Amino acid sequence: MTISCCERMNADLHRECPVHEDRTDCPDAFVIEMNGGFGLMVHDGGSSAVEIAFCPWCGAKLPAMAR
Ligand SMILES: [Zn+2]
Ligand SMILES: [Zn+2]
Repeated sequence: MTISCCERMNADLHRECPVHEDRTDCPDAFVIEMNGGFGLMVHDGGSSAVEIAFCPWCGAKLPAMAR
């Protein structure tokens, strides 16, 4: 599934880092698709993310996560 409201969101979702194989390990990666919605990654050593309802770049409303 690819729902990207803007170019910057799209670029972040498809960023490939040469250093971090898993993008959840990469501090440069901000957003992740999860359960049909989007989360903002929390780089605390784990793979946690907080759900976001709006795009951090353009402010567009994002689809809600399935629960
Ligand atoms: Zn956007
Ligand atoms: Zn990286």
